[in-house]
This record gives sequence, structure tokens and C-alpha cells, in this order.
Amino acid sequence: MSKNLTKRSEDYSKWYNELVVKADLAENSAVRGCMVIKPYGFAIWEKMQAELDKMFKATGHQNAYFPLFVPKSLFEAEEKNAEGFAKECAVVTHYRLQNDPDNPGKLRVDPEAKLEEELVVRPTSEAIIWNTYKGWIQSYRDLPILINQWANVVRWEMRTRLFLRTAEFLWQEGHTAHATMAEAITETEQMNTVYATFVENFMAIPVIKGVKTESERFAGALDTHCIEALMQDGKALQAGTSHFLGQNFAKAFDVKFTNNEGKQDYVWATSWGVSTRLMGALIMTHSDDKGLVLPPNLAPNQVVIVPIYKTEEQHNIIRNVVNTLKQKLEDNGVSVKFDDRDTQRPGAKFAQHELQGVPLRIAIGPKDIENGTIELARRDNLTKEVVDIEGIENHIPQLLETIQKELFQKAYDFREEHTTKVDTFDEFKTVLETKTGFISAHWDGTAETENKIKELTKATIRCIPHNSPIEDGLCIYTGKPSRQRVLFAKAY
Ligand code: AMP
Repeated sequence: MSKNLTKRSEDYSKWYNELVVKADLAENSAVRGCMVIKPYGFAIWEKMQAELDKMFKATGHQNAYFPLFVPKSLFEAEEKNAEGFAKECAVVTHYRLQNDPDNPGKLRVDPEAKLEEELVVRPTSEAIIWNTYKGWIQSYRDLPILINQWANVVRWEMRTRLFLRTAEFLWQEGHTAHATMAEAITETEQMNTVYATFVENFMAIPVIKGVKTESERFAGALDTHCIEALMQDGKALQAGTSHFLGQNFAKAFDVKFTNNEGKQDYVWATSWGVSTRLMGALIMTHSDDKGLVLPPNLAPNQVVIVPIYKTEEQHNIIRNVVNTLKQKLEDNGVSVKFDDRDTQRPGAKFAQHELQGVPLRIAIGPKDIENGTIELARRDNLTKEVVDIEGIENHIPQLLETIQKELFQKAYDFREEHTTKVDTFDEFKTVLETKTGFISAHWDGTAETENKIKELTKATIRCIPHNSPIEDGLCIYTGKPSRQRVLFAKAY
């Protein structure tokens, strides 16, 4: 593989795949559709997890853990959910292997070790969790239950892409139980807002908050709230979902409680999740032809320092200066890597950190030592300047904040430029062929029209945005009346 990445303008998809591998984020594994997340990629995911976990706890949730396997009889209890996920389920049928008498050195499934009941590898955990909640809930005093689980799930996806769509993925899934419908709806909306805040403030990715249409809803939900983001190639990405599940799971698992009037009622439910797909969103929002661009809030190293020297004497002097600087920066809350490897030349180090998206690079050579300066390079806009080392520990935290804001603004401006209002189907098709992006248009509210448009253009309704005003209009496809614009796009 050559050192340079394919340009985004040549082949966006190839650029993405190369970047993920070359920036050492992840790679394909020996298992179809499953990836290996490498240490650098995992460090970014851990930063996401840490921040989200804080936000979940601040909104009253606790972490717990439920089994990977769901007995088939539990899985099929909520029929819509089961039907929606059935086609993607991996199923365990046996619990033992044995030597294969016909093939020495090989193993085979022991026919004697067939499970009495097959086990579904969880594609999502509502079934096992609601079966458990049944034992936890008797009265309104036991509610609400506000639980989150960090886990892996398996969905046997046919067309997979690193991070964006994998057969096994890492995620968190919140599963809450409430005494009233109003409380469950508030929770659903709250968690979608938590996702929006996280993705905008930490990932510097602007999102549209809205609800899904019936055909895009989570199987078994009454309402699916979501956040939708726009990628640089003009395609949308569903970045997070929060579901109002009504009493569907409580009914399926017979989870009743005595309310404060002494009457029996079914419990109200929500579930919500974001996955390692967010890594894909991060890459496809900010990165460029030179590699990854990381917002400072998510960068494992916000600053990398590269020493430039010829003699060991110079190296010693620089090392002392760098160690002092590193300490001062760390005292100010900045994460710093001193890349003092003697196995790599400075040029190779520069290239690696550029490819891996480190927000700021400091280079210090003998001239800098003489002049009391450093060279400071920004990854996001590729600018470089020579600045005084004096006071730099105060300048850098501010600069990181500036970079974080500017990355968001750039992505926001891109989304605004790539959001088009159209009133006819011809205009709709022209936008899809030329600039792509989000299209705001009137729709008659039927699944039939939605499917027809999808069939003809591959564009789907990403969401009915919360902030879409009530406005009389005509469906772009059928000309029937519509009261609100919805957001269409081609999507990942
Ligand atoms: P869902 O349970 O279908 O609402 O999905 C929960 C979250 O996981 C959403 O943010 C999805 O975008 C994401 N997601 C769904 N399928 C996959 C997949 N195959 N790979 C990675 N992320 C996924």
C-alpha cells in the first residue's frame, strides 16, 4: 500500500477504508463482517465512552450487565421486535465440539450436545432485560428503573463497513422502566438530547434531532427519536436512537405493577443506544486527504512534541526543555505525547501524527532553544507558526478550544450549504444527482409514498425534525396535502 491516501474526490469510500486502516484505528478480522479495533481506535472509543457514561450517570442512570444469549422463547415473546431482528440473528444450537472420527485432527459439533432450547446471540437486549425486570417490579415504589449496559451485540449484516456497519459491534443500550407514559416519553426525549449534546460538543458534529417515520422505526417501538448527521460526501448517518417502547415489552413479559391508586398496570419502557458507528461519523465529518482530523475533546493525545536534533548534546538540552513544557501543559489539563523515539526520523513522525489526527504538533530544534521558541502546527487547517515558548502552556488550552469550535462550525456550514428545500420531484432528483445532502420536502405521510421515493431515488426519510414548523404544502411525489416538511437523504 502506498503511503498516501486515495483522495476523497476520487473515491470517498476507498479513502475511508484506507484511512481507518492506515491511521491504525481498526482492521478487518478473520471473521466475516467483524473488525479488530486497534489500540489507537479503541483509545478514541474509550474517550467517547467515558464522556457518555458521565452524562448517563448525571441523568440518574446506573450501569449493569445482562447475558449475551437470549433463549429463543424469550426472544420471540415481543413479536414485532422478534420479527424485525429475526433475519439478522446468530443462533447457538450446540454446546460442545468433539474429534471428528472421519477427519483426524479436525473437530465437529457433537450431535449429542444439542441444546434443548436454542440461544439467540443478542442483537439488542430488550427481551432478556424485560424478562429480568419482571422479577424486580411489583409496585410503583420499584420504579423508575434507569439502567444502562455497555456491551457487544451481533446483527448478521450482509454488507459491512468498518465501524459503520459491522456484524458484531460495541455499544451502550439504556433500558428504562416507568410508571407513566408521560415519564417514559420524557426519558426518550431526554436521552436523545443527551446524544445530541455529546455529539455536538464532544465530537464537533452538528446533528438534526427528530423522529423516525413508521417504516424506519425500531422494531417493537411506538416512536423512535434519532439524531442524524451529514457526512462530507453528502450522505446522512444515523448517529443515535432513543425509543419509546410503550407497554409492548411489559405486555410481552407480563410486567405489571400496582400504581399509587392501588390499581394494576403494565410498565412503560424506553431503550436507547449509540454504537461504534460513531467512530465512522467522526472520521467522515472532519478528516481530509492527509488523514484523520480529531476534535481536541476526543483526541487521545491533544499535543504531540517532536524533538529535532543532530547531536546527543542537543538532544539532552531539548529533552529537558520538553519535559518541563510537557509538565506545564499537563498541569493545565492538556494531554501530551513526547515522541522521543530514536527509531524514526522527524519527517516520519510528522507524517504519522498528521495521519492520526493529533490536533497540535510542536517541533523543537536547536534554533528554537537559542531563540526561546517552538514551531506549532495545527492539524485541522494545516497552518504552522513559530511562537515564544514563554506562556505557551496558557495559549495551547485556548487554541484547543478554538479548534474544537472551528471544527464544529465548519461541519455546520457544510451541512447548511448541503441542505436544500425543494417543492417538486424534479428538483428533488436534480439535487440528489448534483449536490446531494439533506433535502427538506413535503411528504403525504404514507409509507407507500416513502417506499416509492426510496425505490426511485435511494433517498430515505431520515427524520421528521423536531424544529420543522407546521406549514401547509403538497407532497412532492403525490401532490397530496402535507402539514410539515421532512428530511430526506441518501444514507449509510
Ligand atoms: P438500534 O438498536 O437499531 O436503534 O441501533 C442503535 C444504534 O446502533 C444506532 O445508533 C445505530 O445507528 C447503531 N447501529 C445499528 N446497526 C449497527 C451496525 N450493524 N453496526 C454499527 N452500529 C449499528
